[in-house]
Amino acid sequence: MNFSFSSTVQALRQRVHAFIRQEVLPLEAHEVEEQGLPDELLFRVRAKAREAGVWAPQLPVEYGGQGLDTVGLCVLFEEAGYSPLGPLALHCAAPDEGNMHLLHRAATPEQKQRYFEPLARGEVRSCFALTEPHPGAGSDPTMIQTRATRQGDRWVLNGRKWFTSGAKGAAFAIVAAVTDPDAPPRQGVTLFLVEAGAPGFEVVREIPTMTSGGPGGHCEIVLQDCAVREEQILGGLGQGFKLMQQRLGPARLTHCMRWLGAAARAMDLATNYAHQRQAFGKHLAEHQGIQWGFADSAIELHASRLMVLHAAWKLDHGDEARQETSMCKVFVAEAVGRVIDRCVQVCGALGIACEGLLERLYRDVRAFRIYDGPSEVHRMVIARHLLNKK
Ligand SMILES: Cc1cc2nc3c(=O)[nH]c(=O)nc-3n(C[C@H](O)[C@H](O)[C@H](O)COP(=O)(O)OP(=O)(O)OC[C@H]3O[C@@H](n4cnc5c(N)ncnc54)[C@H](O)[C@@H]3O)c2cc1C
Repeated sequence: MNFSFSSTVQALRQRVHAFIRQEVLPLEAHEVEEQGLPDELLFRVRAKAREAGVWAPQLPVEYGGQGLDTVGLCVLFEEAGYSPLGPLALHCAAPDEGNMHLLHRAATPEQKQRYFEPLARGEVRSCFALTEPHPGAGSDPTMIQTRATRQGDRWVLNGRKWFTSGAKGAAFAIVAAVTDPDAPPRQGVTLFLVEAGAPGFEVVREIPTMTSGGPGGHCEIVLQDCAVREEQILGGLGQGFKLMQQRLGPARLTHCMRWLGAAARAMDLATNYAHQRQAFGKHLAEHQGIQWGFADSAIELHASRLMVLHAAWKLDHGDEARQETSMCKVFVAEAVGRVIDRCVQVCGALGIACEGLLERLYRDVRAFRIYDGPSEVHRMVIARHLLNKK
């Protein structure tokens, strides 16, 4: 087994590492929670990211990106995740990153021009709307209630979506809807590109959550007699589930890596504190109880990183790696939660102070066990595959 990265990836990793420290960390003081950076600062840092050659690691070179494989992406996403603003500055934040991946794979040339290219240039934002309130799709995506009915040369969408990240201010949504209620659930769902200004498409509210959120919040959307053209179908009629799987596989891994970067930041904050702060006649870092917590965290982060890189390597070799991506999603989401929790504990009261980054990471990481498939659902999928093998 070869654990080394290509010279291109090594060089890019160093560049992103330096860029995050020099250009992104100083901007954290200007971040507005649930909105990200003020536009002027975001444009400026993104221009610098282009100049520094670290822009959009996930995009092909012809679209201004770095043209990396999934392994290379994962390496860079961990570096970017060191700051909550890193993925935004490099234009590789969720949900746009996963949407770009999907559009690049599945969009027609016309759709690429209209939706993908402005998104790739960072001129607009997008969102992905699958989850619905009861009795609709959640952990079980086959429960989709949103319907698209053909009327003449149009498809008319009706339904309600919620927790759609980034919907407020997004230029368009990728909406999952049932087009053939008689087909088996995994064959009767289609993805539609719905523009924000379309009559019948309304972002009715931003749902307040414990997470700090990114630009555009987590929103509820109502689709009421929202008519779209046939050309707004993404990837073909009835292809929704297949495409969602293609989007989610790599997106789960890149999410894991962004979170590993965030956990590395939490570890740095906690180790600094442990070196400075004294209790019972010595520095916290000299107490065995503290040391073991750091050791456990380092072990979990190392195991997480190796798992993700292995799954990424399988994806790069044409394997769908479904078991591995599910395993990564469960293990990493739970491990980074424990790591950040330990870091909060090491920092005592300062760990939960709202003026520090740790409490924010602690709030944000909780949702990671729910989005991109709750841990229980991935465990179910892993076990199902394992038990049905014989
Ligand atoms: C921060 C955040 C961002 C999100 N962004 C988006 C987005 O952009 N687009 C989008 O479409 N959705 C998004 N979601 C929604 C997310 O995909 C769903 O929350 C997730 O799929 C779970 O669905 P649910 O919340 O309806 O949970 P439910 O389906 O109501 O399930 C509740 C709980 O039941 C448990 N459970 C479910 N199935 C099983 C089982 N088989 N065995 C044991 N326990 C089980 C799990 O613990 C689960 O958390 C986001 C969610 C969050 C928190």
